Amino acid sequence: MSTDANRPKALIGWHEMFMGVALLASARSKDHRARNGASIVSPDQRILGVGYNGLPRGCDDGDPVYWSDNDEDPFHSRHSYVVHAEINAILNCVVHPLREATIYTTQFPCPRCAQAIIQAGIRNVVYLREKKHHAAENQAALKMFAASGVKCESMEAFDPGAYGWSRDLAGALQLAPMSRGENDV
Ligand SMILES: [Zn+2]
Repeated sequence: MSTDANRPKALIGWHEMFMGVALLASARSKDHRARNGASIVSPDQRILGVGYNGLPRGCDDGDPVYWSDNDEDPFHSRHSYVVHAEINAILNCVVHPLREATIYTTQFPCPRCAQAIIQAGIRNVVYLREKKHHAAENQAALKMFAASGVKCESMEAFDPGAYGWSRDLAGALQLAPMSRGENDV
């Protein structure tokens, strides 16, 4: 007979697993300014795609133009070149369409990624951390999410246990440290 006491237990829950996959992917990123990752999960808990931020295929990681920081000059701005983790996770998906899926992302999605998330039919966003100095961008993303019915939740708010576990994993992977509340990586 089976009781709760002798029922076999998993070591981690689903949220830990999917954010853990996003964090492991982020450790592959060569962008030392911000290593981000994302995993996309079907309603029945299958991983559909994984991605991290990086240059498009074929672009040489050793070319400094791709990593330069002059936002006044789009040719010399990394923002013109680096593909965000959420977009790569969508483009890397093994199964399409992504309707009703959930994306676990290490950082609050920027407006461009929010557009891709909406257009791909993803219904839920779970993010680990949010850059406070991106408040206006985040507001724009939230406005689009609200209009299209995409639920966007902070893991810290809805599953503090999984959040703490993910924060510890980020520390173990030696990603930039996360402090509570003010998460800027
Ligand atoms: Zn983005």
